[in-house]
Amino acid sequence: MTDRKTEIAANLAKVEERITAACNAAGRTRDEVTLIVVTKTYPASDVRILSELGVRHVAENRDQDAAPKAAACADLPLNWHFVGQLQTNKVRSVVSYANFVQSVDRARLVTALSREAVRAGREVGCLIQVALDAGVSGRGERGGVAPEGIEELADLVAGAPGLRLDGLMTVAPLTGEYAGREQAAFERLMDLSTDLRRAHPAATMVSAGMSVDLEQAVAAGATHVRVGTAVLGVRPRLG
Ligand SMILES: *Cc1c(COP(=O)(O)O)cnc(C)c1O
Repeated sequence: MTDRKTEIAANLAKVEERITAACNAAGRTRDEVTLIVVTKTYPASDVRILSELGVRHVAENRDQDAAPKAAACADLPLNWHFVGQLQTNKVRSVVSYANFVQSVDRARLVTALSREAVRAGREVGCLIQVALDAGVSGRGERGGVAPEGIEELADLVAGAPGLRLDGLMTVAPLTGEYAGREQAAFERLMDLSTDLRRAHPAATMVSAGMSVDLEQAVAAGATHVRVGTAVLGVRPRLG
């Protein structure tokens, strides 16, 4: 193995151990949690290594970086998740490679995603991004819709051609009542997921937890964790 592959394999094994331990502690089975490796800022060669090591889900947050990377890795059996704030003028590009968009947070974006998915003949899995620190605007600083806005958006996605409503996503807030209380934040997301599934039983995905707080996410019931630095290393630049 190359040095880089050895390094990534070792990191991946540690993350696997953490997820397994967290599942055991929560009385959950390992297959209830899917690992998504966040590859932003890292090259396509790392994505290829991850695929060789058995990773099947990767995530990106900027279309400019993600589009060429996904094209370079089009031969690999990967699911691509888009997890960043998404401008409507990037939607056509994102829909060309993303199997999932986890950052759906406004009606205009749903309309654009639906139009482009239909045009491309693709089905895009959508997660509503929830901002647990949303201010009076009803929107989070890093994207996301306030809990009160979930139902309306969910109904919109569920009725939109080319889109599939898959669940909810959140990022642990740095401000507001949940700052520093990751597990409480993720438990709140689980409650919101329970509400959502009354009307949309198939929307079972709960995406929460990153390198520093994946244990809290698994304890709260997350079905998907999004891990970057713990697998690939500290990012060379902010992303
Ligand atoms: C970067 C990012 C992650 C991964 O964060 P790490 O701290 O590197 O594990 C997860 N989710 C989103 C939305 C991100 O932008």
